[in-house]
Amino acid sequence: MSMKQAPFLPPARLGVMGGGQLGRMFVHAAQAMGYKVAVLEAAPDSPAGQAADSLIAAAYDDAAALGQLGQSCVAVTTEFENVPADSLQLLATHAFVAPAASCVAIAQDRIAEKRFLAACAARSGVAPAPHKTIASAADIDSIEDLLLPGILKTVRMGYDGKGQSVVRTRDDVRAAFAAMGGVTCLLEKMLPLAYEVSVLTARGADGASVVYPIAENVHRGGILFTTTVPGPNVSAASAAQAQQAARVIVEELGYVGVLCIEFFVLTDGSLVVNEMAPRPHNSGHYTMDACVTSQFAQQVRAMARLPLGEVRQHSPAVMLNILGDIWFAAGTDQAREPAWAELLALPGACLHLYGKEEARRGRKMGHVTFIAPTLAEAQQQLQAACALLGIAP
Ligand code: ADP
Ligand code: MG
Repeated sequence: MSMKQAPFLPPARLGVMGGGQLGRMFVHAAQAMGYKVAVLEAAPDSPAGQAADSLIAAAYDDAAALGQLGQSCVAVTTEFENVPADSLQLLATHAFVAPAASCVAIAQDRIAEKRFLAACAARSGVAPAPHKTIASAADIDSIEDLLLPGILKTVRMGYDGKGQSVVRTRDDVRAAFAAMGGVTCLLEKMLPLAYEVSVLTARGADGASVVYPIAENVHRGGILFTTTVPGPNVSAASAAQAQQAARVIVEELGYVGVLCIEFFVLTDGSLVVNEMAPRPHNSGHYTMDACVTSQFAQQVRAMARLPLGEVRQHSPAVMLNILGDIWFAAGTDQAREPAWAELLALPGACLHLYGKEEARRGRKMGHVTFIAPTLAEAQQQLQAACALLGIAP
């Protein structure tokens, strides 16, 4: 049992590493609870920086800036999973850091992550995909047949499907490995996915944990397209199994904060654990409008060593990501402004825009969540929104 430590109460200053939209929504949640927030981010104008009480404009590994952040804040978190773990370690000499550097280090490295998830499998009941580390030509020569066709993924810095390549033969692996510059990769067996789900969890400094309802995710072009909760395909058995596995994983990690775990449901109905994000996650945005405690408010509570909030979902929800593509008329480079007023006229529409100046194709600009008395109604509003915004349904 960990000893109960005093909570950090408002108006204390909380720190966040990273200036993106996750940081911005964290800042809003913290400020709503009366905290001050400092953001460390190199870009002078960023989604989180715009909202913060103070901005330290510096690189994530700038020792002086980290000292300044750590000394000015009672607790620090991260919104970007590739913040160097060493920086979090350094911050921990000044402030309470949640999640800890050791946890973030595992999630940053696909090999360490797979090893950890495989080690959890005996207790969690859910294993990762069959996989092998590819660091040399000899590793490629010794690939077992069962791993092909597969997906070659860079071990570090991958997100939104970047740094990945589908490989059917050992020659494909050789070519893809060379194209990735010979950096260490992970080869994963290509699995027959029926659908993808994620489970958002949080664990407090006192060791208590909560698990949000299971979310069903649809990706397009490697980027999350929609999240639907409750998932229309998710069986009660799969949901219970994924939630139980999530509970074991967050506990085994000794984690403090919000952790999102992605799972695959295969065509035979079995469950595979894919990866973890050591922070609030795009698939958890629906909690802002559909749950008692949003994932960002939960992160505030965890890092402030407060009791975690209730995770109950009070409305069915469908979240649609808003990418920069909709600022361009279909098939042209002609800029246009999306039909926000018409979108907001749809019942249950909750619009969140991230304050990004420039719309680019594939760039996450915001999201809209539809909440409704029934899932069918929320899904109808999604269809209407796609029509309004010029998104293929
Ligand atoms: P990222 O860090 O980019 O999110 P993921 O490991 O989640 O990387 O892979 C991105 C997507 O690729 C997944 O959401 C899934 O659709 C697909 N994918 C990844 N691994 C596999 C696999 N082993 N079998 C089938 N599809 C996969
Ligand atoms: Mg993923």
